[in-house]
Amino acid sequence: NRGLLIGRMQPVHNGHIEVIKETLEEVDEIIIGIGSAQLSHELKDPFTAGERVLMMRNALIEEGIDLNKTYIIPIEDINRNKLWVSQVEMVSPPFKKVYSGNSLVQVLFSEEGYEVIAPELFDRKVLSGTEIRKRILMDEDWQSLVPKATVEIIEEINGVDRIKHLNKKEI
Ligand code: ATP
Ligand code: MG
Repeated sequence: NRGLLIGRMQPVHNGHIEVIKETLEEVDEIIIGIGSAQLSHELKDPFTAGERVLMMRNALIEEGIDLNKTYIIPIEDINRNKLWVSQVEMVSPPFKKVYSGNSLVQVLFSEEGYEVIAPELFDRKVLSGTEIRKRILMDEDWQSLVPKATVEIIEEINGVDRIKHLNKKEI
């Protein structure tokens, strides 16, 4: 009984961790798909798939989640929505249930016969990647919205400078 959760995780935040913990009460193993894996160094997608894998793995360890029950797999976009489920099936361990709050993900997987579950959103006003990226740019508190692991990796890779630099206009 394996479940799939997909997100861009730009960056990994406390909402992702909560939904992973909840999902692990319903499934034996969870596959965490890192979406839009080919993207990085863009304001909406600043971190590489590898950096996101590292944030996620270290956050799972920090939270005491059993790594033996998790898979973290990067998934690239193919820009052909009708074929995307097949693309996911090609790179993921087999799964029966899909957990996602994203409507497109929900439609595509349910059309292919998967059971789709929309997990409850925790504290969505602040626990969203968009809000966290905005706060990083504005020097507002973002550290409290993410696992320590995310703070550490962003420090290690100079992620704050990266995001601020990406926001500069050419002059
Ligand atoms: P962005 O604003 O960049 O889209 P996001 O916070 O929506 O970031 P995603 O990586 O797009 O993060 O989220 C993937 C999935 O993670 C969502 O479809 C949803 O199922 C789950 N998720 C995201 N935020 C929360 C939250 N606050 N509570 C519970 N689940 C969440
Ligand atoms: Mg989103």
